[in-house]
Amino acid sequence: MAEIHRKPHAIMISVPYQGHINPFLNLALKIASNGFSITFVHFEFVHHRLSKAHHCNKTHVDIFSQARESGLEIRYTTISDGFPLEYDRNANFEEYWGWILREFPARVDEFVGKIIQSDPYLVHFLVADTVFSWPATIAEKYNLVNVSLWTQPALVFTLGYHLDLLRENGHFPCKDNIDEEVNYVPGIKSISTRDLISVVKESEQGQYSMVESVHMGFDQVKKADFILHNTVYELEAETLSALNKYQPNYAIGPVNFFKNLPSYTVSKSLWSESDCTQWLESKPPSSVLYVSFGSFVLTSRQVIEEIAYGLLLSEVNFIWVVREGILSSGDTNIMPDGYEDEVKDKGLIIPWCNQIRVLSNPAIGGFLTHNGWNSTIESMWCGVPMICYPFLYDQPTNRKLVVDDWKCGISLCDGTISVDRKEVAEKIKSFMSGAASKSLRQEANKVKTILHHALEVDGSSQGYFDRFIKDLKEKIHSTITSIE
Ligand code: UDP
Repeated sequence: MAEIHRKPHAIMISVPYQGHINPFLNLALKIASNGFSITFVHFEFVHHRLSKAHHCNKTHVDIFSQARESGLEIRYTTISDGFPLEYDRNANFEEYWGWILREFPARVDEFVGKIIQSDPYLVHFLVADTVFSWPATIAEKYNLVNVSLWTQPALVFTLGYHLDLLRENGHFPCKDNIDEEVNYVPGIKSISTRDLISVVKESEQGQYSMVESVHMGFDQVKKADFILHNTVYELEAETLSALNKYQPNYAIGPVNFFKNLPSYTVSKSLWSESDCTQWLESKPPSSVLYVSFGSFVLTSRQVIEEIAYGLLLSEVNFIWVVREGILSSGDTNIMPDGYEDEVKDKGLIIPWCNQIRVLSNPAIGGFLTHNGWNSTIESMWCGVPMICYPFLYDQPTNRKLVVDDWKCGISLCDGTISVDRKEVAEKIKSFMSGAASKSLRQEANKVKTILHHALEVDGSSQGYFDRFIKDLKEKIHSTITSIE
């Protein structure tokens, strides 16, 4: 009986990538601000990496202790994935995901079991990443309400949810270079096979663990009590309405911009200011192209070189976040020899920045992006049009949404990964100042308005969040009463 008088309590755990961690952190703060208690779980290696990152203003520990000072109940803890801290998880991606798929669930089981053993009434619900292969099994075993957070657009979710339909229609596995129409998935009017998530592509089938993981994740999510989406209803209404026929889905995004949290957000506080701001202030409005390919994408030296010289040939000002681990060869020397000398004041090459702050700067006129979902939604939040250069996973599908549906971006290349510096230069020049640039900016501003309004008190995402909290409380109550 005593537990009913406590705050309902969740364990929250995301996969260990930046694009998942940020939405989880913001959601944790938002749920805690609504009268819940949270145990936030990081992978141990992520905790170490974030704690020692020299450009961090605040670690997650600082953020959570600040949250506690302002009255929120958030505990912070870590779980080991079973590998030493120094193990290179990106370089050994296949082995690592194989382990996460098969061995990690037993660790989560033990971890949740221990918390519950210490206090059988402590945990009421689980908020886990849809990508994991274990949430339904664990929730069922410990009688927890099961909340799944999907950090990408609903279109991508729907494709994963209906893998069986893709298979029946010969599109899973899907030949790499075919262009066929997919018009049989509920909630998707039409999508080309070229824009499908990369895990269904024939060439990806060697990535057994990732493909299997997607399979298992989508099997598990079919047993979730609630599915939260980091998207906005107005942008994906048809897809979300179709999904609601199967399970309760709530479009609550953009999660990284939730309002009325304690006076900081993770995205703003995690990375320090660099000298970007000063450099940007010396440039005219809308004149600078921001270039970043996210935290994980691996590519070839040749692609980097063509983009690098394409940028120079375009004569457009640019800021380029060049992450050390971006080359699939593992080389850390990424830029062509002498490149930075040639760039002079035309460009700023930096290892990391506060992306949202950079995108919000009036000097930024466009974003050359890999279309990771966070980058995509951050660009739209700031009303910045995109040049899309997707590589893997959800990125080709996100490109389709940006270019074909929302019309706030263009593609760098049409359906191919190979790039040529002259074409890059032409594309960038016309994107930044050509005839189409005005309408791209107008469309970007329309999408921006939709996103901002969604989080207002009377906006759709705030409405869905409120409804989720109400439904969650009812579900927790009925679960507790049923075990008494
Ligand atoms: N990011 C950042 N500074 C950078 C580059 C990226 O803060 O210099 C953040 C960006 O704001 C986004 C996340 O890292 O929130 C990248 O997520 P996304 O989904 O775009 O790509 P991923 O890294 O998952 O491929």
